[in-house]
Amino acid sequence: MKQIFTLFFGLSVAISSIAQQKTYIYCGTLIDGKSDNVRNEVTIVIEGDKIIDVQKGYAKMNKKDNYIDLKDKTVMPGWFDMHVHLEGESNPKKYMERFTSNEADVAFQSTVYAKRTLMAGFTTVRDLGGTGVNTALRNAVNKGIVIGPRIYSAGKSIATTGGHADPTNGMKHLLMGDPGPEAGVINSYDEAKKAVRQRYKNGVDVIKITATGGVLSVAKDGQGPQFTMDELKGIIEAANDYGFVTAAHAHGAEGMKRAVEAGINSIEHGTLMTDEVRTLMKKHGTYYVPTITAGKYVALKAEIDGFYPEIVRPKAREIGPKIQATFAKAHKAGVLIAFGTDAGVFPHGENAKEFGYMVEVGMKPMDAIKSATMGAATLLRVDDKLGSIEKGKIADLVATDKNPLDDIHTTENVHFVMKAGVVYKRE
Ligand SMILES: [Zn+2]
Repeated sequence: MKQIFTLFFGLSVAISSIAQQKTYIYCGTLIDGKSDNVRNEVTIVIEGDKIIDVQKGYAKMNKKDNYIDLKDKTVMPGWFDMHVHLEGESNPKKYMERFTSNEADVAFQSTVYAKRTLMAGFTTVRDLGGTGVNTALRNAVNKGIVIGPRIYSAGKSIATTGGHADPTNGMKHLLMGDPGPEAGVINSYDEAKKAVRQRYKNGVDVIKITATGGVLSVAKDGQGPQFTMDELKGIIEAANDYGFVTAAHAHGAEGMKRAVEAGINSIEHGTLMTDEVRTLMKKHGTYYVPTITAGKYVALKAEIDGFYPEIVRPKAREIGPKIQATFAKAHKAGVLIAFGTDAGVFPHGENAKEFGYMVEVGMKPMDAIKSATMGAATLLRVDDKLGSIEKGKIADLVATDKNPLDDIHTTENVHFVMKAGVVYKRE
C-alpha cells in the first residue's frame, strides 16, 4: 500500500515539475515589435505557450529549467503575413490543375507550403482565399497534425459574376454554370449577406472580397470595380454582425474607394491608388497590405512564353511592376501598413523578401518589422495576445543572425523559430 502511494506521489511530483519547467531565452539583441527601442542582453522567460517575463540582462535560472542561447542573434516576435494562399503555388500547370486536382491533392500539397512558411519565420498568416481546404488546414495545424503557422482563413473569397474570384472564369459554358453565394459569387445585397453567413457556417476567421478585377484570373479586366455600393454594404454589415475582419483585393481606384467607404478593414495590392483613396484610407483607418513581392514576380514571369495564359500576360506586365511605387507613396502619405505578400503567387517561404522591397523604397527597417508584428496583429484584432514580446503574450519568436536594422535581408534566412512556446527551427 505504501509503495503504491509512493509511486503515485512520485508520479504527481514528476508531472508538476514538467508543468513548471521554464525556458530562458538569452537574447543578444531584442526588437519587441511594439517600441522603437532596441535592447541588448535581455532574457525572455517562457512557461508553456506564454511569455511570463522579459528581464534585463541574462537572468539566472533553476537547474530544472531549459535555456536557449541566442546571445549572438537578434530576436523578434514571430512575423505575420496578412496575405497568403496556402492551397497552391503559381506555375504554368496551375490553370489546368483546377480540372485535375481533387480536394485531397490540394490538402496534401498545402501541408508542404504551410511548413515552409513557418520555417521562414512566419508564425501567423491570413489565408485570403482558396477552396475551403485552407480552413481545414488551419484546423489540422491547431490540432498539431500538420506543422505550419497559425492560420486565419477566409475560406473561399467572395466575388460577383465573372469577377476576379468567380471560380468558373474561363471555362466552357457547359462547365460554367451559375455559381451563387455558397461558391462565393454574389449579385445583390441579400446574396452578399448570405455569402458571409455561409462562410460563418463554414467556420472561417476573416472575409475576403475581390473588389476589382485581378491579374491572374482568366478575364480581360484587371482593375475595374466589380461590386456595387449596395453589395459592399451587405458584405460589411454581415461581417460586422459576426465580428469578421474584412479584406478587399483591389487594383483600380474606384473599387478601392467604394470598399473603403463601405468600411472594409484592408485594401490588398492597391496598385492604382490615388491621392483621393489615400486620404480616404487615412480618414477611415483602413490598412494597406502591399504584396510587392507578388507584383514583381508576375511581371517577371509574364515575359516567359506560356507561363500564364495569353489573357493574363498584359495584366501582369501592367499591374505587377507598379505596386512597389504605390507602396512608397502610401507609406509616405501615412497610410497604415500591414505586411502581406500574396505568397502562393510566388513560392511559399520567400515571404521575407517583402521586407527588403519595403525598405528599398524608403520604409525604415524598424517600421517594416512592426508592420509584420504589432501592425498586422492590430489589423487582425489579436494584438492582445500576439504581435509583441511582452509578459502575458503567446511565445511566438524568430531570430536572425544579423540585426535586420543593419541588414534587412537577414530576414530571408531565419535562424530560430518558436511558435506557442515550441521550437520548430534552430540552425
Ligand atoms: Zn491574393
